[in-house]
Amino acid sequence: MNKDLAAAWKKAEESGEKIPIGNIVVCDQCDIDYTSRDDRGGIILGSNAFCPSCTPKMLADVARHREEHYIRARCQRDRVLFRDVARPPAWVFVMIAAVIGVVYIALILLIQMLLQ
Ligand SMILES: [Zn+2]
Repeated sequence: MNKDLAAAWKKAEESGEKIPIGNIVVCDQCDIDYTSRDDRGGIILGSNAFCPSCTPKMLADVARHREEHYIRARCQRDRVLFRDVARPPAWVFVMIAAVIGVVYIALILLIQMLLQ
C-alpha cells in the first residue's frame, strides 16, 4: 500500500476524523499503488476503484451477479489512465458535468415550450 495512504489511514483510525487523501490512487482489490503509474483501464464499481489487472475478474463477477448498474465509470483500456479515473475529483467532475448538461438541456426545452 502507498505509505502516505497508510499514514493517513492510521491517523484517521486514531482521531476518528476524515482525512483527505489527496491524489493517492490505490486499487481497492489488490492494494497496488497507481498514484504514479501510467496503466490504462479499470473501473469504478460503487465506491470502489478496481485497477486494470483486477477489472477482468471483477467484470466477470459483476456479470454473474447482474450488478452492471453499480459500474459508475469504465476506462477505455487503450486510452484512459486508471489513476485519472480513480481519483475522486476526476469522476466527480464528470458526473457534475453530466448533471449540468442534463439541466441545461431541460432548461432549453422548457424555454422552447414556454415560447410556443
Ligand atoms: Zn487491482
